[in-house]
Amino acid sequence: MKESLIDTGIDGHVHTKLCHHARGEMEEYVQAAVGRRLRKLVFLEHLEVGISYFEDTWLTEDDFAYYHEEGRRLQDKYRGTIEIGLGIEVGYNPAAVEEIRRRLALHAWDRIGISYHFMASDAGHLNMVSSKQVNIDRLAAYGVDAVINRYYDALQDAVESLPGQVLCHADAVLRHHPGIVPQQEYHSRIGTLLDAVARKNMALEVNTSGYTRKNEPYPSLPILKMAVARNIPLVAGSDAHRPEDVGRFFERLPGLVQELAAG
Ligand SMILES: [Zn+2]
Ligand SMILES: [Zn+2]
Repeated sequence: MKESLIDTGIDGHVHTKLCHHARGEMEEYVQAAVGRRLRKLVFLEHLEVGISYFEDTWLTEDDFAYYHEEGRRLQDKYRGTIEIGLGIEVGYNPAAVEEIRRRLALHAWDRIGISYHFMASDAGHLNMVSSKQVNIDRLAAYGVDAVINRYYDALQDAVESLPGQVLCHADAVLRHHPGIVPQQEYHSRIGTLLDAVARKNMALEVNTSGYTRKNEPYPSLPILKMAVARNIPLVAGSDAHRPEDVGRFFERLPGLVQELAAG
């Protein structure tokens, strides 16, 4: 058995105010990570392409230019104290794959995470991982099973067609829908998805934001066990949208590792 399944010295997924729905400057996140005695912090800012939605929750090209400039300044300033990675959380859009590739090619990335937030509909895009009632109602009208199937179909395409390194939201679809008993019936879909993740030598994210709502990270324990069985590396991310959430609940990860190692 490996020494530890999850490196708890690295927070591999934080946002900043650059995405318009988080708050805090990049440097405040770095300082929070130093305060948490992390060895490494990876920014994973939102990219979405070709999405029509009632608010912009992602970075523009100009935002990303600033992000890299400021990120390099912080890498220099904090060298020897903490390592800083400049990554990107790519939201998949099946209708904009070429444009996503073009945007990715504009910069070097320390980490490319794959997510899928927005599903196209006649009424514009609907956010499948949102807690906002308007999204939940419209997606429910579309049909819960239909949404979940589209989610896994597209996420599978994203893993296979984009140069991703980490799968971020393996079971996020309709997470906030009150009627969903998550996962159980979708485990074979998730198994197929994880097979693709393994083939691409990608890692799976253990997203500790799950602990704010339940006694588990995202994705849930059975899915993490499916990943371990496929020898998929696990990487921790807080998905912080506020500096004080950097490294949140990482103290629970050693216990999680024990549970996973027990099989
Ligand atoms: Zn976000
Ligand atoms: Zn995120």
